[in-house]
Amino acid sequence: MTDYDVAIVGAGPAGSTAARELARGGARVCLLDRARFPRPKPCGGALSPRVLRHLPSGVEGLVRARIQRAVFTFRSCRPFEVTSTLPMGYMVCREEFDAWLCGSAEEAGACVREGVAVRRVERTGTGFAVRASGEDIRASWVVGADGANSLVAAQLLPRRLPAKFIGVESEVPYEGDDLEETVLVDVGRYPGGYAWAFPKGDRVNVGVMLEFPRGRELRGALAAFVGGVPGLPSAAAACWQSAPVAAPLREPAPCAGTGVLLVGDAARLADPFLGEGIYYAIKSGSLAAKALLAGRNEADAAARYETAVAEAIWPDLRAASRIASLFHRSPRWWHRILSRMPTSLMQYVAVLTGEQSYTGLLRLVVDRLGSAAERWALPRLGLARSGAS
Ligand SMILES: Cc1cc2nc3c(=O)[nH]c(=O)nc-3n(C[C@H](O)[C@H](O)[C@H](O)COP(=O)(O)OP(=O)(O)OC[C@H]3O[C@@H](n4cnc5c(N)ncnc54)[C@H](O)[C@@H]3O)c2cc1C
Repeated sequence: MTDYDVAIVGAGPAGSTAARELARGGARVCLLDRARFPRPKPCGGALSPRVLRHLPSGVEGLVRARIQRAVFTFRSCRPFEVTSTLPMGYMVCREEFDAWLCGSAEEAGACVREGVAVRRVERTGTGFAVRASGEDIRASWVVGADGANSLVAAQLLPRRLPAKFIGVESEVPYEGDDLEETVLVDVGRYPGGYAWAFPKGDRVNVGVMLEFPRGRELRGALAAFVGGVPGLPSAAAACWQSAPVAAPLREPAPCAGTGVLLVGDAARLADPFLGEGIYYAIKSGSLAAKALLAGRNEADAAARYETAVAEAIWPDLRAASRIASLFHRSPRWWHRILSRMPTSLMQYVAVLTGEQSYTGLLRLVVDRLGSAAERWALPRLGLARSGAS
C-alpha cells in the first residue's frame, strides 16, 4: 500500500482540478483514472466564458471555436439569432481538454495513475484503502470525482436519485462554413432538453439531451435534428455515444461524508437547464481542494465543503431548475416570445460569462413576465415579490 493525504478517483475536470490545487497547496495526492488519456468523453465540449478564469494558463491553445452567434429554432423551423461582440462560449474537444487538465495536475505535483480502475473503497481505522486494479492505495481522504455513475458515492454515501437527463452526442468531420462561430440550438421535440450543433473547426459536435426516463427516444431525436438542418453530416446520427447528464433530479444530492467529498458529476452538480457540467466540475473541484487544505479535521473539512457548495453552487442549480420548469411548460411559447426580443437572451449570456447569476436571471424573467404571471409564479418559484423585504 502507498500512503497519500488524498486519493482522488477520476481525472475528469473535477478530479484534475482538485488534484492540481491540492498538490499546489502541499498535499500528497494520488489521482487515479481507469482510462488512459487522451480518452473520449460523451460531451458537447462547450465551455462558458466563466470557466476560463478557473483554468491554468494555456487553455487558449485548446480552443477550436469562439462562439459569437447562436441560432435558435423550434423543431428545426422559425430561426432567430443572437449575436455578441464578445465570445458567448468556447469549444474544446474533451479528449484534448481533459488530457491537458490531467497533465496540469501532474505538473503541479500530483501522482497520476492512468489505466487504474478503482473497484472498492474501504474505511480503515485511519482513513481509506482504495482497492484498484493491480494495486491498493491508502489515503486519509477520498475525493469521488468518478462521474455520474460514481462508485465512490455508491459505496460511501447514502443512496441518491438518478441524474435528471441523459444525453447523446456525436463529433464528426465537418467541411462547411455555415457554423463558423455559430451554435445551433433546437427546442420543441426533446422533453426537458434540447438539441445542439457546436462547431469545432474541422469537426462539428451534434447532440441531444432529454429527461432520463425518455432515454429511448434519444437516437430518434438525434436523427430528426440532424435531418432537419441542411449541411449537417448524416454520419452524426450514425456514430454516437451517450451518458447521463448529472443534474440533480430534484433537490441537491449529499456531497460529503466523514473523510469523503464528491465533486462534479459524482455530486450531481450539472446545470438542470442547460446541462452544463464542466464549470461546476471545475468549481467544485476547487472548493473541495480549498476545504481539505483549510480543514482542521475530517468533520471540519467536510462541513466547509458542504457549506461552500451550498453557497456557491446550489442557488444557481435551484434557479436553473426553476427556469427549466418554466421553459419546458411551453417551449413553443418561449421560442415565439424570445424570437420577438432576442436581445433579452443576452441576460442568459451574462450568466454564462459570470456577470449575472442564475438567481438574478430567474428574478428578471419573473419580473418581465409581468404582474399577472407574477401572481401565480412567485409562490411556485419560492421567490418574494421584487422590492419586498
Ligand atoms: C452528451 C453530453 C453532452 C454534454 N455537453 C456538455 C457541454 O457542452 N458543456 C458542459 O459544460 N458540460 C457538458 N456535459 C456535462 C459534462 O460532460 C460533465 O458535467 C463533466 O464531464 C463532469 O466532469 P467530472 O470531472 O465530474 O466527470 P467526468 O468528466 O465524467 O470524469 C470522470 C472520470 O472518472 C473516471 N472513472 C469513473 N469510474 C472510475 C473508477 N471506478 N476508477 C477510476 N476512474 C474512474 C472516468 O474514466 C472519467 O475520466 C455533457 C454531458 C453529456 C452526457
